[in-house]
Amino acid sequence: MIRENVERILGELPPGVELMAAAKSQPPERILEAIEAGVRTIGENYVQEAEAHFAAIGAKAKWHFIGRLQTNKAKKAVGIFDMIETVDSIDLAREIDKRCRASGKTMPVLVEINSGEEEQKAGVQPADAETLIREIAPLPNVKVRGLMTMGPFEGDPENSRPYFRMTRQVFEQIKRRAIPGVDMTVLSMGMTNSYRVALEEGANMIRIGTKIFGPRTG
Ligand SMILES: *Cc1c(COP(=O)(O)O)cnc(C)c1O
Repeated sequence: MIRENVERILGELPPGVELMAAAKSQPPERILEAIEAGVRTIGENYVQEAEAHFAAIGAKAKWHFIGRLQTNKAKKAVGIFDMIETVDSIDLAREIDKRCRASGKTMPVLVEINSGEEEQKAGVQPADAETLIREIAPLPNVKVRGLMTMGPFEGDPENSRPYFRMTRQVFEQIKRRAIPGVDMTVLSMGMTNSYRVALEEGANMIRIGTKIFGPRTG
């Protein structure tokens, strides 16, 4: 099923859109099936689980972090990931920068937008995104490559549209600022339920778990 699912989604995607497989709670064999079917990017929510997946699969895919990164896990994360999509504070950006400098790396990051402006949710408030990006921009070993958002979870995917649209507007606005060192190219939004709406609103990276792997049991 995984192969068919991946092929079906890839067949739907316009050129220039990257399909990420969100791999939380999946065993490496199933992730490998997705890679063999054409997935090139794997999304991980937990550093510890990512370590196990990475040890089994390695460089057959790009590894993106999409969970909440605690600063005490930044060192490990820097050793595994090709991109960290969930930077929402200058403290976290500085920690990633420091750990990257120690290992001679530069980490591409996305700034996570709390597009629902929900208090308990991760992400920077939309109105604070530009300020945060201007603070991150001078860090030598972190490079801002775009934005990511979850949006509030609600049944009807149409409910996500305003949040995706607003995130796209923030994306375009920051792009127009042409902040030195900032390369606004990636807009990561849309999940199983909402990716079609996200594509209509300009996403070029979609993060799919259930529609590739089936419902999560764990
Ligand atoms: C789990 C997860 C996804 C994928 O969710 P599905 O609804 O299973 O497609 C996407 N993004 C993030 C950040 C996730 O944690």
